[in-house]
Amino acid sequence: MGDPRRETPAKLGLDLKAQRLTVTWHDGHVSTYDAPFLRFVCPCAGCRGHAPGDVIPPAWEQVKSARVVGGSQVGGYAIQLAFDDGHASGIYAFDRLRDACPCCTGPFDPAVPRGL
Ligand SMILES: [Zn+2]
Ligand SMILES: [Zn+2]
Repeated sequence: MGDPRRETPAKLGLDLKAQRLTVTWHDGHVSTYDAPFLRFVCPCAGCRGHAPGDVIPPAWEQVKSARVVGGSQVGGYAIQLAFDDGHASGIYAFDRLRDACPCCTGPFDPAVPRGL
Protein backbone atom coordinates (compact mmCIF):
# COMPACT_ATOMS: atom_id res chain seq x y z
CA MET A 1 0.00 0.00 0.00
CA GLY A 2 1.18 3.46 -0.84
CA ASP A 3 -0.21 6.82 0.18
CA PRO A 4 -3.89 6.30 1.14
CA ARG A 5 -4.78 9.84 0.07
CA ARG A 6 -3.43 9.07 -3.38
CA GLU A 7 -5.23 5.73 -3.67
CA THR A 8 -8.62 6.51 -2.12
CA PRO A 9 -11.38 8.05 -4.22
CA ALA A 10 -13.08 11.12 -2.82
CA LYS A 11 -15.61 10.89 -5.62
CA LEU A 12 -16.50 8.18 -8.10
CA GLY A 13 -18.36 9.14 -11.23
CA LEU A 14 -19.49 6.45 -13.65
CA ASP A 15 -20.98 8.30 -16.61
CA LEU A 16 -22.87 5.78 -18.72
CA LYS A 17 -23.74 8.41 -21.29
CA ALA A 18 -20.15 9.49 -21.83
CA GLN A 19 -18.92 5.91 -21.25
CA ARG A 20 -16.31 7.10 -18.82
CA LEU A 21 -15.29 6.52 -15.23
CA THR A 22 -14.00 9.60 -13.47
CA VAL A 23 -12.26 9.26 -10.12
CA THR A 24 -11.44 12.26 -7.96
CA TRP A 25 -8.76 11.20 -5.51
CA HIS A 26 -8.26 12.48 -1.99
CA ASP A 27 -5.04 14.19 -3.01
CA GLY A 28 -7.01 16.25 -5.54
CA HIS A 29 -5.95 14.43 -8.71
CA VAL A 30 -8.68 13.54 -11.20
CA SER A 31 -8.39 10.44 -13.38
CA THR A 32 -10.58 9.63 -16.35
CA TYR A 33 -10.88 6.15 -17.84
CA ASP A 34 -12.73 5.34 -21.06
CA ALA A 35 -14.88 2.20 -21.18
CA PRO A 36 -12.82 0.35 -23.83
CA PHE A 37 -9.64 0.99 -21.85
CA LEU A 38 -11.25 -0.43 -18.71
CA ARG A 39 -12.43 -3.51 -20.59
CA PHE A 40 -8.95 -3.90 -22.12
CA VAL A 41 -7.16 -3.91 -18.77
CA CYS A 42 -9.82 -6.03 -16.98
CA PRO A 43 -7.99 -7.65 -14.07
CA CYS A 44 -10.24 -10.72 -13.67
CA ALA A 45 -8.86 -14.26 -13.79
CA GLY A 46 -10.79 -14.95 -17.00
CA CYS A 47 -8.90 -12.18 -18.80
CA ARG A 48 -5.54 -12.53 -17.13
CA GLY A 49 -5.31 -16.06 -15.79
CA HIS A 50 -3.58 -16.93 -12.58
CA ALA A 51 -0.17 -17.29 -14.20
CA PRO A 52 1.35 -15.83 -17.36
CA GLY A 53 0.24 -17.83 -20.40
CA ASP A 54 -2.89 -19.21 -18.68
CA VAL A 55 -5.35 -17.38 -20.90
CA ILE A 56 -5.28 -15.16 -23.95
CA PRO A 57 -5.91 -11.62 -22.69
CA PRO A 58 -8.46 -9.50 -24.56
CA ALA A 59 -7.12 -7.82 -27.68
CA TRP A 60 -7.85 -4.19 -28.39
CA GLU A 61 -9.75 -5.12 -31.57
CA GLN A 62 -12.18 -7.16 -29.48
CA VAL A 63 -12.84 -4.55 -26.84
CA LYS A 64 -12.43 -1.17 -28.52
CA SER A 65 -16.20 -0.65 -28.76
CA ALA A 66 -17.02 -2.14 -25.36
CA ARG A 67 -19.52 -0.20 -23.29
CA VAL A 68 -19.94 -0.06 -19.54
CA VAL A 69 -23.47 -0.89 -18.43
CA GLY A 70 -23.03 -0.65 -14.68
CA GLY A 71 -20.71 -0.55 -11.75
CA SER A 72 -20.77 -1.05 -8.02
CA GLN A 73 -18.29 -0.32 -5.30
CA VAL A 74 -16.63 -3.30 -3.62
CA GLY A 75 -15.88 -2.48 -0.01
CA GLY A 76 -13.65 0.54 0.23
CA TYR A 77 -10.99 -0.76 -2.10
CA ALA A 78 -12.41 -1.38 -5.57
CA ILE A 79 -15.15 -0.96 -8.14
CA GLN A 80 -16.69 -3.83 -10.08
CA LEU A 81 -17.70 -2.99 -13.64
CA ALA A 82 -20.16 -4.69 -15.98
CA PHE A 83 -19.82 -4.41 -19.76
CA ASP A 84 -22.27 -4.86 -22.61
CA ASP A 85 -20.53 -8.05 -23.74
CA GLY A 86 -21.81 -9.68 -20.54
CA HIS A 87 -18.46 -9.46 -18.85
CA ALA A 88 -18.78 -8.38 -15.22
CA SER A 89 -16.13 -10.22 -13.25
CA GLY A 90 -13.51 -7.49 -13.24
CA ILE A 91 -12.84 -5.94 -9.84
CA TYR A 92 -10.80 -2.78 -10.29
CA ALA A 93 -8.77 -1.99 -7.19
CA PHE A 94 -8.44 1.74 -6.61
CA ASP A 95 -4.69 1.63 -5.98
CA ARG A 96 -4.17 -0.09 -9.33
CA LEU A 97 -6.51 2.28 -11.10
CA ARG A 98 -4.49 5.17 -9.74
CA ASP A 99 -1.27 3.57 -10.95
CA ALA A 100 -2.86 3.21 -14.40
CA CYS A 101 -4.17 6.80 -14.56
CA PRO A 102 -4.10 7.65 -18.28
CA CYS A 103 -2.98 11.25 -17.76
CA CYS A 104 -0.04 10.11 -15.61
CA THR A 105 1.08 7.05 -17.55
CA GLY A 106 0.80 8.60 -21.02
CA PRO A 107 -0.71 7.04 -24.12
CA PHE A 108 -1.01 3.29 -23.83
CA ASP A 109 -0.09 0.88 -26.59
CA PRO A 110 -3.18 -1.09 -27.69
CA ALA A 111 -0.92 -3.69 -29.31
CA VAL A 112 0.38 -4.73 -25.92
CA PRO A 113 -2.14 -6.56 -23.71
CA ARG A 114 -2.02 -5.14 -20.26
CA GLY A 115 -3.79 -5.99 -17.05
CA LEU A 116 -4.64 -3.48 -14.43
ZN1 LIG B 1 -12.12 -9.88 -17.26
ZN1 LIG C 1 -3.23 11.28 -13.82
